[in-house]
Amino acid sequence: VFPVDRMEDEEGPEYGKPDFVLLDQLTMEDFMKNLQLRFEKGRIYTYIGEVLVSVNPYQELPLYGPEAIAKYQGRELYERPPHLYAVANGAYKAMKRRSRDTCIVISGESGAGKTEASKHIMQYIAAVTNPSQRAEVERVKDVLLKSTCVLEAFGNARTNRNHNSSRFGKYMDINFDFKGDPVGGHIHSYLLEKSRVLKQLVGERNFHAFYQLLRGSEDEELQGLHLERNPALYNFTRQGAGLSMGVHNALDNDEKSHRAVTEAMRIIGFSPEEVESIHHILAAILHLGNIEFVETEKDGLQKGGLAVTDETLVGYVAELTATPKDLVLRTLLARTVASGGREVIEKGHTVAEASYARDACAKAVYQRLFEWVVNRINGIMEPRGRDPRRDGKDTVIGVLDIYGFEVLPVNSFEQFCINYCNEKLQQLFIRLILKQEQEEYEREGIAWQSIEYFNNATIVELVERPHRGILAVLDEACSTAGPITDRIFLQTLDTHHRHHPHYSSRQLCPTDKTMEFGRDFRIKHYAGDVTYSVEGFIDKNRDSLFQDFKRLLYNSADPTLRAMWPDGQQDITEVTKRPLTAGTLFKNSMVALVENLASKEPFYVRCIKPNEDKVAGRLDEDHCRHQVAYLGLLENVRVRRAGFASRQPYPRFLLRYKMTCEYTWPNHLLGSDRAAVSALLEQHGLQGDVAFGHSKLFIRSPRTLVTLEQSRARLI
Ligand code: ADP
Ligand code: MG
Repeated sequence: VFPVDRMEDEEGPEYGKPDFVLLDQLTMEDFMKNLQLRFEKGRIYTYIGEVLVSVNPYQELPLYGPEAIAKYQGRELYERPPHLYAVANGAYKAMKRRSRDTCIVISGESGAGKTEASKHIMQYIAAVTNPSQRAEVERVKDVLLKSTCVLEAFGNARTNRNHNSSRFGKYMDINFDFKGDPVGGHIHSYLLEKSRVLKQLVGERNFHAFYQLLRGSEDEELQGLHLERNPALYNFTRQGAGLSMGVHNALDNDEKSHRAVTEAMRIIGFSPEEVESIHHILAAILHLGNIEFVETEKDGLQKGGLAVTDETLVGYVAELTATPKDLVLRTLLARTVASGGREVIEKGHTVAEASYARDACAKAVYQRLFEWVVNRINGIMEPRGRDPRRDGKDTVIGVLDIYGFEVLPVNSFEQFCINYCNEKLQQLFIRLILKQEQEEYEREGIAWQSIEYFNNATIVELVERPHRGILAVLDEACSTAGPITDRIFLQTLDTHHRHHPHYSSRQLCPTDKTMEFGRDFRIKHYAGDVTYSVEGFIDKNRDSLFQDFKRLLYNSADPTLRAMWPDGQQDITEVTKRPLTAGTLFKNSMVALVENLASKEPFYVRCIKPNEDKVAGRLDEDHCRHQVAYLGLLENVRVRRAGFASRQPYPRFLLRYKMTCEYTWPNHLLGSDRAAVSALLEQHGLQGDVAFGHSKLFIRSPRTLVTLEQSRARLI
């Protein structure tokens, strides 16, 4: 029996396996047991090869900060217990040493810890770069870190599933110079959930920014905005008026956050005028939400028409958007339509049309504001004064924090887009993981065989195929003149996809009572079945706003607001081209995103939400099993083990198993680590199940690993 030699960071079996690849048997039960065991001991991170699985602890754990960062800095992935820092370091090293563009893809359902993970990654990168304290690099790092709180104010909201839920997808590139220091960055945002501006579920709130403005502004500022402090007074914020921001990180109240966000905007470089415009626009949206319409009586010969119930509100909107009041009023009550040539006529709204247009305007103004904020930050982070000939090419690390697969009680267009996005990312995941494996085998000079796996390409096709795919059929429906209903759209889908193995509807499966006739269709996603209600699909996809609003805002005297509406320049008679639909825009952005990610060396973080109640220390087995299933984690382990269950650099292998062999304990005298590993395996009779790469040992079957693990466990 050899003496115990536990590395500081090698943990005993009571902490479970640090890598799921090391499991004796790969069943869901074994997987869950290991996850549970580790979670109970505060080990929220576990690997699957180089993929990091993370479980949200819902409590502050002493895992982060400068000391922990120092432990991971410059190390190899396996040298320390699994951690986000190890992944960040891996991506950073690949970028710096091999000049490879890398990306870190973070996925998981709402509340699983994606955004927190992305912040830890950024903190790691900020901490390990710029040792020489160059001023420009410090500036960029400051913007990178501080922009998060600004984006969260405008893009996050309290939901039932997460008190600080990101309501948009985010992909952020960080540019590094040849020294490995950040010199710039760029954010892409995806599909802001703008319907939240109008309505929220019980227990949820509008975007943080509204409550922050109301609760955090000084009295005189509020007066200037014609606002009262109480969010219950505004239609758009009434629902969430009684709710706080909820508890998350340091910024747990609206008042403090307002100051922090305003300060952050100032520090990163927004001008005071810009910040003021932003506040004006938020206030204008709140007032707009309170405007209501009535039909006016016929009065003698005077024709009946439409009026607003409270004209002072129209005055406020006009003042805050720096537009003429009479024009605001006219835009709210009627629209202009082209009637051939350069002729235009004004057509009065009904109450319903006017309310619809008001809401569309509120949503659009908020979305443009959000996009403007993102672009403004991008302008500030743009790599400055860099010349590729002099400075060499920048290398990039991309961080993707994007909504996970989503199944709600009722699923609509938004869930459809989100789940399509996850199909795309899953497809990429499989492609890249396999590609990485293959490349490694080639690099190490190991013979390689291809691996069978479920390819979700047919589901992606079902959605995005030209002409017949769901998005194309939807676009077709949207471009049809005259009344077309969601129901007709559904019928067209049924005709096209009657035989598609991943598509069904009540029409096609009359006995399936979980779907409603004429309303629902179902997609068999790789992650599970989702039933979508077509109600509102056409309207949400068309996503139109009357040109009158665009022109009104383009003609604002406020340059910041005006800049958000370049398309308002056109006159109604010149608007000939239909703008791209929301679905097509989203599809295009997904295709570009996937292309971009595919060109980079990927690192993956798969986040799991332990329970629905946001409580610390409780892992709900059913809830987690479901996520493990749809994140495809078992499949991931299987792919990882298919060719070779494990691969380890020779020194690392020895470190873990050298106590199991007399020739290698405590140190070997065999000339090379490879020879020592060979001797060790021979003593165990395992040499037939491995391949020797240039720098790594490849172990074919999990059985071999288990044998090694067991003989190790007997000794420690
Ligand atoms: P997602 O972006 O996946 O929806 P978040 O990253 O916003 O989820 O996490 C939701 C909440 O969970 C956070 O506000 C925080 O309270 C908690 N949380 C997430 N990750 C951690 C962590 N590593 N340590 C402590 N708390 C965390
Ligand atoms: Mg988030």
